[in-house]
Amino acid sequence: MPRDGQTAPNCYDAEPIPEAARAEIDRLLSSGDLFRYTSENAPVSQLEAEFADFIGARYAVAVASCSAALFLSLKALDLPRGARVLVPAFTFAAVPSAIVHADCEPVLVEVADNFRIDMTDFEAKFDDTIAAVMISHMRGHTSDMDAIMALADARGVSVIEDAAHSLGTLWNGRQIGTIGKIGCFSFQSYKLINAGEGGILITDDPELAARAVIMSGAYEHNWKKHPGLQNSFHHWQNKLPLYNTRMQNLSAAVIRPQIAEVPRRVADGRANHDYVAEILNTSPWLDVPPPLAPETRAPDSLQFNLVGEWSDAEALRLQDEAKARGVGVQVFGLSKDNARAYWNWQFLGDIPELPKTRAMLMRACDTRLPARLKKPDLDFIAHAIVEAATAVKG
Ligand SMILES: *Cc1c(COP(=O)(O)O)cnc(C)c1O
Repeated sequence: MPRDGQTAPNCYDAEPIPEAARAEIDRLLSSGDLFRYTSENAPVSQLEAEFADFIGARYAVAVASCSAALFLSLKALDLPRGARVLVPAFTFAAVPSAIVHADCEPVLVEVADNFRIDMTDFEAKFDDTIAAVMISHMRGHTSDMDAIMALADARGVSVIEDAAHSLGTLWNGRQIGTIGKIGCFSFQSYKLINAGEGGILITDDPELAARAVIMSGAYEHNWKKHPGLQNSFHHWQNKLPLYNTRMQNLSAAVIRPQIAEVPRRVADGRANHDYVAEILNTSPWLDVPPPLAPETRAPDSLQFNLVGEWSDAEALRLQDEAKARGVGVQVFGLSKDNARAYWNWQFLGDIPELPKTRAMLMRACDTRLPARLKKPDLDFIAHAIVEAATAVKG
């Protein structure tokens, strides 16, 4: 709907893929050389080297999705069947699914209304039965990694970072994904780098890297096409299953030229987010929680809470009022079958009640805010949401 003569910004279109991808894709289509292990130094291998260098990790393993990377991370840790893995209850359904896929058991931890892990519940549930920790930086919100690492290190338990939606986020100046033992990123279309699908696993540990490489599908001696790990590979040859979840060269051709775009997308996304957040925070009915002190965010969407007394019906009306003003807003817990609402993860069987996380999900709103938006778009979105809240609450 037009507002002040302006049309609503399109928050769904992706940015074009950099032109440099075109020539490389043409070359790959002409040669038909799409499999990463057909030739030496294939685009997937080059991507691994470039991504490791960009993020500051020793090893990178490119795979089919972030979910595949999370699965391989657990497999690389060689956890026993049924191992219990701590995971925040505010995440995407694919994350507990990766834990189930790896024959482990997710233990859901409460998430507070600042969208970050409730450290009291985390500490309480981190008992001797916990074999690994998987931290989902959901929508790019970073939980207290200092406290998490201190607890995990004290217990000698490995931390996997699900940084699918956090590329470019810094914690104490350090890239998110490099703090735990393993970090996993996504190249699915709604993330900062868009290849349609794709994922990558990073680690500094040569044994974990070698195990992940082999299990991703480096059969026979294809591991020789991964530099720097020869001794580790000899150790694991023929001892691990091949889950065949490799990346193919066309994906790498689409991803590689986007790495250089990351700093701009991060800076623009953060500026856009903070600009809209400031306007939303002028409303007595809306609150955008601040980042944690050590955190420098890289958001490409906006989450905010409905504060004060809101009934479910009023929260639903906010969605309608925003939509009537041309802006899509979703209350996580009020949209049917939402994959980020833990009570919908029925594949887990009995799910314990998590009152804090539930309360947060029932009033936490999600709206898209791509880095490519300009100031008039941001004003349009911010004022539409503020006016929608006023329309409901007066
Ligand atoms: C997108 C996302 C995933 C899943 O990534 P895929 O590459 O689609 O498997 C996992 N965790 C978070 C936090 C995500 O945002």
